Formats: sequence, structure tokens, C-alpha cells
Amino acid sequence: MTQPLIEMAAIRKIYRLGDTEVAALAGIDLRIEHNEYVAVVGSSGSGKSTLLNLLGCLDQATDGSYRLNGTDVRDRSEDELATIRNREIGFVFQSFNLLSRASALENVMQPLVYRLTTPAQRREQALAALARVGLADRADHLPNQLSGGQRQRVAVARALVTEPAIVLADEPTGNLDSETSRGIMALFDQLQSEGQTIIIVTHEAEIAARCQRTVELLDGLVRRDHHHQSANA
Ligand code: ADP
Ligand code: MG
Repeated sequence: MTQPLIEMAAIRKIYRLGDTEVAALAGIDLRIEHNEYVAVVGSSGSGKSTLLNLLGCLDQATDGSYRLNGTDVRDRSEDELATIRNREIGFVFQSFNLLSRASALENVMQPLVYRLTTPAQRREQALAALARVGLADRADHLPNQLSGGQRQRVAVARALVTEPAIVLADEPTGNLDSETSRGIMALFDQLQSEGQTIIIVTHEAEIAARCQRTVELLDGLVRRDHHHQSANA
């Protein structure tokens, strides 16, 4: 059997605020295989964003173990975590997080700055990523010259350009109307069918239904974890 892409065991994350401790994650066991399409759901405060931040190596657990694509992600320095993130993870956020003074192309090229490639190669890779999300003809547009859905497509292209092991998305359609949201979800569906592993935090049942597995959190624990048929057409 091949090793899972993600293997978390007994992961806890405790936030300390003065004298009080908040167990944002209280003991998470989670395995995710290559090419899975996973929704993480749960009420506000259940630990979804904390889990996504740990999965994406933006933060570290208080205790427990986490292996990502064969790498033990524990007791790593900030620099090491940044390297793991850049190699393994593509992030998509609710608020797009694009650089407002940079063109779509420059935004997508940004994660490649750390790669030992030439500017021409980076440009070519970024153009290919923009083409994958259907925006090859918008490369020179600034974010404010694009619609919300197009901005999120640029953000997806930026997440993909490094060919990450996993795309992590935290409420990626939270700022979009329902029709635009469906377009973004159709894009995720397509990427998953092409082999991408995708994990989406959402509170929308319609979005979770499009994935193939739903992990529900409650009070920092996995309350339910079930595989299902995706509802996409
Ligand atoms: P969700 O994304 O499901 O709404 P979060 O992961 O953001 O939940 O938060 C889980 C719990 O951890 C909540 O009780 C929240 O208040 C707490 N929490 C999150 N981030 C911090 C932080 N930086 N400091 C202190 N407590 C936090
Ligand atoms: Mg959250």
C-alpha cells in the first residue's frame, strides 16, 4: 500500500490567552490519500480554520504527529515550514489575497520566485496556470479590473502554479454569488478529475455535496467522516 498524502495522529492545538486555554483541536486523527476531494465542515468555532492552517503548515500543532507527503512536520523552523509550504501546498482564501498592484500574471508568478528557474520559465508556467483556469486572455489585468469570480480564478492559478501536492481552500466561495460559486466549484471538480488533491473548508452543504468525502468537526474533534458520491453533474 502506498503511504497516505496526509497522516495526522492525535493532533491537538491549544491556544493560550492569559490564564485560559482553548483546545481548538482536541485530538484529530486524519488520513487523506492522493487525489481525494474532501470537504471540512462544522459550526463556527469547531476548529476548521485551525485544522486547515496546520494541514498547510502555516502553524504547528501543540502535540500529535503529522506526516505530509512523507515528511514529518514537527519541530520545524519557520524557514523549513515555508519551504514545505511552497513545495507541497497551494492556498485559496475567501478574500482572494491577491496583490492589488500586480497583474494577474505577476500574482500567479509570485510563488515561483523561490524556484531556481529563469524569469522566462516562470512566466511560461504562470501563463499555463492562467490558461488552466480559463484566464489566458486576462494576464495583464490588475485585480480591480477583474470580477470576483475571475479574481478567485487567478488565486486558484496561483495555488496551482507550483504543482502542489494539495490545494487547500478556506471558504473559497464565501465572497461570491451562487452562480459564480458554481463556476469555481466546477473548476475544482475539473482539477480533481485531473489528479489534484483538494481540501475545502466550507459551511455550505451544496459545496460539501460536490466533494467525495466530508469530515465534520465538533469542538475540535472529528465528529463524522464519511465518503459519498459527488453531486457534480
Ligand atoms: P472555525 O474555522 O471552525 O470557525 P477556528 O479554527 O477559527 O474555527 O477556531 C477554533 C477555536 O479556536 C475557537 O474557539 C476560536 O475562538 C479559537 N481560536 C482560533 N484562533 C485562535 C487564536 N489565534 N487565539 C486564540 N484562540 C483561537
Ligand atoms: Mg474558520
